Amino acid sequence: MKTKDFSRRKFIATTAAGSAAVAVAASIPAFGNITHVRNESDKLAILGGTPAAPDKVWPDWPYVDEKVVEEVVKTTRSGIWCRIQSPNGTVPTFEKEFAKLFGIKTSVSTGSGTQSLNTAVEALGIGPGDEIITSPYTDPGTIQSILVSRALPVMADLDPESFQLDPDDVERKITKKTRALMPVHIMGQPCNMQRMMEIAKKHNLKVIEDSCQAIMAEYQGKMVGLIGDVGCFSFQTSKVFCCGEGGAIVSENEELMDKCYTVMNHGTAKSGRTMTIGSKYRMNEFEGAVLLGQMPGLRERHNIRNRNAKYLREQLKDLPGLVPQKLYDGTTQGSYYLYTWSYKKEHWNNAPREKFLKAVAAEGISLSPYIANGLHREPWTDHIQTLPEYKTMFGSARMKKFKEELLLPKCDQVCQEMVMVWASGPLLGTQADMDDVTNAIRKVYANRDKLNSI
Ligand SMILES: *Cc1c(COP(=O)(O)O)cnc(C)c1O
Repeated sequence: MKTKDFSRRKFIATTAAGSAAVAVAASIPAFGNITHVRNESDKLAILGGTPAAPDKVWPDWPYVDEKVVEEVVKTTRSGIWCRIQSPNGTVPTFEKEFAKLFGIKTSVSTGSGTQSLNTAVEALGIGPGDEIITSPYTDPGTIQSILVSRALPVMADLDPESFQLDPDDVERKITKKTRALMPVHIMGQPCNMQRMMEIAKKHNLKVIEDSCQAIMAEYQGKMVGLIGDVGCFSFQTSKVFCCGEGGAIVSENEELMDKCYTVMNHGTAKSGRTMTIGSKYRMNEFEGAVLLGQMPGLRERHNIRNRNAKYLREQLKDLPGLVPQKLYDGTTQGSYYLYTWSYKKEHWNNAPREKFLKAVAAEGISLSPYIANGLHREPWTDHIQTLPEYKTMFGSARMKKFKEELLLPKCDQVCQEMVMVWASGPLLGTQADMDDVTNAIRKVYANRDKLNSI
């Protein structure tokens, strides 16, 4: 999804001149503006017709403007490359800025979302012999953050309309060893946190929010990440706010944030004493520089994505074959990392999703099926069965039951039906870009009787 026909140099020059986000949008040729809408029943491009969105160019990603470059150059020249060299370095400064975004005193940054989650697990004192219930429909980092502490990630099934953890199945999976829930706000939209928090309270469990995709999302008016005990974010390149690899932890509980700092800092507290077990998960100053550089337009880009997502939803609301992700009632603010639908093949002449994706791609729009298999179908579930420490910690009967409980048909259904547009860069496009997406989809829909022959 890289831009083809404008150079980074030109891009930086244009964005330096004015509002960066506007400049990005203006730099993109508007292939899909209204005069370009083609007859929906035109011949499909995959069958030799003219593509609905030829030579499609999307906004460039990752986001770079002159301020980002300046911050990195400044850091390079300063010789302050590690966060402990100066209290005014980019990382300590970013931690304060990120905390401000959440209205809290401090945040703790790390080298990745996975590291943030693992730091939270460790800081909550969760480890060998403990179970954490989480989603199978997520980044591998979610479960790895549990496994590296030698706890057991127990997976519950999904609500197939929201793609989020089903609270009823979460409750069914609770055992005497369950210590925490790790709900994942998938696609950047909040989980059913009302139910999650009720379940956690009833069973005395901690809640670690995997908010890696959900920066600035809000649920019942509260920032996602601050609803549970602790919230974790990722700044990996594909995410909407990014620096290559990076992560952050937020919480209103300052004592817990202090513990997170210690765990993140090879077990060494701010006092300088080495207190506990902890790997070295420090963010470096170059990553901090990129994030500080990106911070000014963050809210504006968030708003553009939200506006475009709303437009996509409205434009396709009468198309029964693509059902947009269900948002829970408490969703007061979404964040769009991915814009997603369920593909209902009965509305597409029973054509398999792959044929639909191929036809839309030929029209010039690449949609993705996202995660091929839920994590319950990946080989790690067998691998941990072979590890003596898991047998010792949990016993053979529990490990056998763990394996048996990995039948998660709703997650399988979501994996098979998912169709998505990556939102970080593409949803920063113009309304005309969104029209390109909907025109391509509508054209394929109008020709659905031919889908099985491609
Ligand atoms: C990206 C992501 C992670 C892991 O973050 P990294 O920075 O890649 O380690 C975890 N959970 C979810 C839901 C993610 O999207």
